[in-house]
Amino acid sequence: MSIEKKGIAVSHGFCYGSIVLLNKARTIVEKRKIKKNEIFNEINRLQVAVEKSIDEVSDLKINSDYGLKSEHIDILDFNILILEDEILASEVIQKIKNDLINAEWALNDVLTNKSKNFANIKDIYMQERLADFYYIGERIVKNLRGANDHSFEIKNNSILVAHDLSPIDTLKYCQNEKVKGILTDLGGATSHTAIIARSLSIPAIMSLHNISHTLKPGQRAYVDGYKGIVTWKTNKEEKIQMESLREEYLLLEENLLEFSKLTGQTNDGALVSVKANIEITSELNSAIRYGAEGIGMYRTEFLFTSKDRFPTEDEQFEDYKKLLNTNHFDEATIRTLDIGGDKIKNLNIEESNPALGLRGIRYSLANIDIFERQLRAIFRVCAEEEKKIRILLPMISNIDEVIKANEIIDQTNKDFMVSDFYTIGVVIETPSAAILADEISNHVDFISIGTNDLLQYILAADRTNENLSNLMSYYQPSVIKIIKQIKDNVGNQKYISICGEMASDILSLPLFIGLGFNELSMNSHSIPIIKSAMNELSSSECKEIVNTCLDCKKAVEIEEILRKFINDKILKAKNLMKYEI
Ligand code: PEP
Ligand code: MG
Repeated sequence: MSIEKKGIAVSHGFCYGSIVLLNKARTIVEKRKIKKNEIFNEINRLQVAVEKSIDEVSDLKINSDYGLKSEHIDILDFNILILEDEILASEVIQKIKNDLINAEWALNDVLTNKSKNFANIKDIYMQERLADFYYIGERIVKNLRGANDHSFEIKNNSILVAHDLSPIDTLKYCQNEKVKGILTDLGGATSHTAIIARSLSIPAIMSLHNISHTLKPGQRAYVDGYKGIVTWKTNKEEKIQMESLREEYLLLEENLLEFSKLTGQTNDGALVSVKANIEITSELNSAIRYGAEGIGMYRTEFLFTSKDRFPTEDEQFEDYKKLLNTNHFDEATIRTLDIGGDKIKNLNIEESNPALGLRGIRYSLANIDIFERQLRAIFRVCAEEEKKIRILLPMISNIDEVIKANEIIDQTNKDFMVSDFYTIGVVIETPSAAILADEISNHVDFISIGTNDLLQYILAADRTNENLSNLMSYYQPSVIKIIKQIKDNVGNQKYISICGEMASDILSLPLFIGLGFNELSMNSHSIPIIKSAMNELSSSECKEIVNTCLDCKKAVEIEEILRKFINDKILKAKNLMKYEI
């Protein structure tokens, strides 16, 4: 009899594969079972890697080009002490022998336990030594893998299972099509990891609590990313049932593609552009396949972190050019670097609260050279392609930031003279910008509402915290009211879109149509269903439903009204959708 577990379905799709268990200190480590006759080899690998690590740290001490201060020498000595610690070595060796696991995992386990003990000690100096455990672990793991190989090889048909997975690691490990599914203990639907999984069309379930302790490496599991259910230990009969479920879903996907050819419009002729959000330019093909009417937001931060340095102007130029080279789109929206928050930590800055830190435009204005380099690359594309790029500025909180950014944009443009080929917009995603939306909109050409962060900041609820998923509802009266307020403040003259995940929420669609938004930009996979639903709705009925929802006091009431409305109106799409609306 099979076992199943339900979590939050954050990326639709169905797959099966073998479990690859990941553990993450700072370097990701894979858990691999070994045979008894491999124990000697594994211990030998460990010893060689530890000796190499000791040599490296000793070399650092002796040959450093920088005059090392005594506290630096102390730290290096502490590193060597840990590396030479025979008790530590014997614990790791014992673990390899007893659990029959690879050296990387055994080492990681032992160091994680040791660092937990350090974390409980109140002494600040000792607490700081916690970081040393991570660095030592990383150094040995790097040496275990060999000098040039910083990652392990992922086999075909893998399902990544982790306690938590960062957006960067998700991109790093999932781009080669070998990873078929993702399961994590933590995380919610609007986390950046979920966004990446959706954009790569990889079925993913998050908030599965202790799944990383439950599943074993190599075990076969089925991931139902529609219902958010993972199933394992299936018997013969259940395997057959799973196979027929997979076929049903495949058919559903094929049928959905039919809708991709539709125009984004209501049945009474109101046009609402349905565009794609992408995180890497290789997603352009799937944006086209699913019927995107444009690129509504290219999140550039992943380009900035794909190497261990920021991209050069030339590298950015080559990348951005791809957006307009497909012959499908006459224009594209590039969002300037939104580093920080839960995506990528600020380099060189330790922030205790990164979501409220130096992210988005704040970072660009504090690092003008990086901002200008990005703008120069964009303007070179405008000049070469003679097509329009919409520059989108993230995390705006006040007018000063817009004015300053505009000045830098104007100044940079002087070298290119491409004013006819770009427009400027801002993401409204902070409560402050929402309040100031009318004044802000006077300084820009278009507005886009970033509902992911807007919800996080309006509701004071961390977007990555799965325990708050009920509170983080799109249907909270405060959320609907603030979106209406922004739209009213901006007025009908200015182009306004939604670029947060809420744009792909079928229940919220009548609200966006009724409020008169010009564009919805979303993960490519959701485009066909949203287009189909839109074609079955009338803008006049949607206006009425907006008013009904605005009178409601509770999220559950709004959700119920919208669910009933959609279930009554959306017949074609509903017939196809296996998962409940
Ligand atoms: C948003 O906040 O809604 C948004 C579009 O940006 P991101 O999810 O990248 O923060
Ligand atoms: Mg945002």
